Amino acid sequence: RRILVLDGTGRGHAVCELFTRTDPEAVVYYAPGCDVVEHDRIVPVGSLSLTNPRPTLEFLARNPVDLVFVSHIDALSRGFVEILRAFGHRVIGPSSEAAALEASKERGKRFCLDHGLPTAAHRSFTDPEAAKAYIRSLPYACVVKIDVLTPDGDGAVVCDTEAEATAAVDAFARAYGDAFKVVVEERLTGRELSVFALLDGESALLFPTALDFKRTLDQDAGGNCDGMGSVAPHPAASEALQQEIRTVLLEPLMRGIAADGLDYTGFVYLGTMMTDDGLKVIEINARFGDSEAEVVLPSVTSDFGALCEAVLDRRLHLAELRTDGLARCSVALTQGCLDPADPQAPPGWPFGAFETGQEVHGLDAVDPAEADVFYANLRRDADGRPVTSGGRVVHVVGRGTTADEARRAAYRQVGHISFRGMRHRDDIGAEPAVVVHH
Ligand code: ATP
Repeated sequence: RRILVLDGTGRGHAVCELFTRTDPEAVVYYAPGCDVVEHDRIVPVGSLSLTNPRPTLEFLARNPVDLVFVSHIDALSRGFVEILRAFGHRVIGPSSEAAALEASKERGKRFCLDHGLPTAAHRSFTDPEAAKAYIRSLPYACVVKIDVLTPDGDGAVVCDTEAEATAAVDAFARAYGDAFKVVVEERLTGRELSVFALLDGESALLFPTALDFKRTLDQDAGGNCDGMGSVAPHPAASEALQQEIRTVLLEPLMRGIAADGLDYTGFVYLGTMMTDDGLKVIEINARFGDSEAEVVLPSVTSDFGALCEAVLDRRLHLAELRTDGLARCSVALTQGCLDPADPQAPPGWPFGAFETGQEVHGLDAVDPAEADVFYANLRRDADGRPVTSGGRVVHVVGRGTTADEARRAAYRQVGHISFRGMRHRDDIGAEPAVVVHH
């Protein structure tokens, strides 16, 4: 099988690894990919773009493939799926209309309400004053979200007080001007749970759950970001939870997709909260989570190319997912400031400037017997050395028969890697020290 994967994140690397590991014949073109990935059957194609489909069409005309797997929201929301299909290619991914479930928070919320997926109460506003008046009228704490795609996961401000929420509205109004549009929603309390399923348009195949660590600092302090690490399976995973996911989330989701006439193949990712009142949807995403892909996909032992064929032929209801049953823990190594002692130094990723181009040492020293490393913002410099090229640089994924073993393996292997300004959380996979009840 020849496959083209359109992505360029740690998730994309994990998707390529999954295709090649579960099918010894698979050859994967990875675009725009990462030129540090070294695998005899993964071919990085750095010249393709996630925002302009033309280079991809030209590439496919010269290099025919059996299927194209689109797993980055930039390409999905720009309609790559329908454009490539119009040229006769077999493509997996939601259409741009279906990807709007993620790209527009208001659309995602409306879908939940229309089709009976439980979610937090909310209202949308284009006028900052109206948003603030609504916030002042609320008897509960809220979350303020800007209704556009934000690159660093910083589009949602989880507020403790009314003052914080109105300040968030003012900050978004200043930053977005005429494009200001926010969703104000009830703040849910509980533990988050990331739910994943592969869809063929009619049926859904549930993947293992995961817990994402979104806050920037240890003990879940600091703001939200794209994710500093994750674990799978989720600490609360059980057969009863799987059953609740099926009946409360997946069945209404599939009915909604049919009722709205959405063209949806590929992964769906439901960000949810386990509340006292049952599961509630925080957000619908039109692709796998990043950094959850790095802990969930390595556990899959079913031939993923064959599952993709089942998606394209709409016979996913006959398929079964096999996994290795191991626990995994992923720690994101990010580009922080180069000199933490310098008060003038930029704060580093996320939410601040950082200086890329730092040489990354020790990638080869990681022991494959206990960890995988997935490459995110990592590039080769002119001398062929791996250097940092953005916020999250690599994800180190430890595995073990228990969650604790996986966590220890991850941190042991993190110890081999270094670059100037490297920072990471020290408590990924640790049970929260304090459970906060509001
Ligand atoms: P991402 O890049 O992670 O998709 P986003 O900008 O799309 O972020 P959301 O995913 O909707 O925004 O929210 C980001 C995070 O904020 C959630 O993962 C969750 O931790 C928190 N959050 C969002 N909505 C709520 C809510 N209603 N109650 C409590 N926490 C929430």
